[in-house]
Amino acid sequence: MSLSKLEKTGGSAGARKAEVAKLIELLLRCESPSGHEHATALTILKALQVYGVQAFTQRVGSRANLIAKPAGQDPVLLLMSHIDTLPRHLTGASEPEISGDKAMGLGACDAKGSIVAMMLAYKELVSIPSLENKVALAFVVGEEVSGDGGMQLTKIGIAPAYAIVGEPTSMAIPWGQAGYLQMRLRALGRPRHAFATHGPSAMDCIVDSILRIQNFIDQIGRVLPIEERPYMFIQSLKGGSRDRFWYLRHECEALVNINVHPNWSPPRLADEIKASVEHESNGEVSLTLEVVDWDEGVTFTSGPLKVAARRALEQSGLGYRETYMRSWTDAATLEYNGTKTLVLGPGSLDVAHSPDECVSIEAVDAAVGVYVETAKNLLLGGA
Ligand SMILES: [Zn+2]
Repeated sequence: MSLSKLEKTGGSAGARKAEVAKLIELLLRCESPSGHEHATALTILKALQVYGVQAFTQRVGSRANLIAKPAGQDPVLLLMSHIDTLPRHLTGASEPEISGDKAMGLGACDAKGSIVAMMLAYKELVSIPSLENKVALAFVVGEEVSGDGGMQLTKIGIAPAYAIVGEPTSMAIPWGQAGYLQMRLRALGRPRHAFATHGPSAMDCIVDSILRIQNFIDQIGRVLPIEERPYMFIQSLKGGSRDRFWYLRHECEALVNINVHPNWSPPRLADEIKASVEHESNGEVSLTLEVVDWDEGVTFTSGPLKVAARRALEQSGLGYRETYMRSWTDAATLEYNGTKTLVLGPGSLDVAHSPDECVSIEAVDAAVGVYVETAKNLLLGGA
């Protein structure tokens, strides 16, 4: 696929679907792991130019966000998604492939399906004279790591009242988004003979603490619906050695992450977790727990935008479904900056970051229509 095959025009439904397939293939073949998004940003910029849309870049360190907006005024509605993906070697993703309706490859649903749908929706929206000065488009870098692209975008002076963030929600609308709590556990003991009389070692202490935290999270999560219950993943576990000597490995460290429900406070949860594992420290081993990073999560206040999207979903035949976003997205950054935000996009989080990542071309095409109709409902007073 090359840029020269893209079509500037194409009014029929079939023509738009064919354009979706071309664009998704183009983007899947252009890899964009976090930190190395620049080539893909330029490819998107050139594809937008073919559609008559002028975009510009905003520097984020050595990389760049991509933005298209009305000249000289603030947009009312921003369509935004992220360019970056995980590096290929971490997901085991195979080469990109289009097979029938299925587009497979790294970043297919997270979030290149959303990017394609937003590019084509924006192209349609700016061709409507009463809307051309009301919508903006932004594709940012760094969402999968630090969210630096989204933060940089808020510094450019774009202050939209509303935003749709394209992420794989299977076209359901999340009422809220989980925050997170990242903690480091360190256990330090003393080297001793492995079979001397003694209490738990540093490594026992970490393993036991992780099990206790998991158990604690499970207990307090029981009051929530299953899909909203927090989950802990162990990011790293360090300690021990393979030498054959029988002595207690006296140092161990773990980094764990919990997706915290937006009704909970991460610092308070951290205190409760500390209390639940405190007794693990004993004369032999000292255990320390330290909060590395956290985000409180979001309950979306999207109001009229949600009404507009709900109506668009119902009219499209997809139907309205509410969901819960179990992972952090750039929507948090926009909400904290006063933009009423909604997360909505094709594809499922269940296949994101996996070798099976894919998105349906038909679902991306349907998302184009939903984004366009949502914008019309919101901005032309139809909602
Ligand atoms: Zn994503």
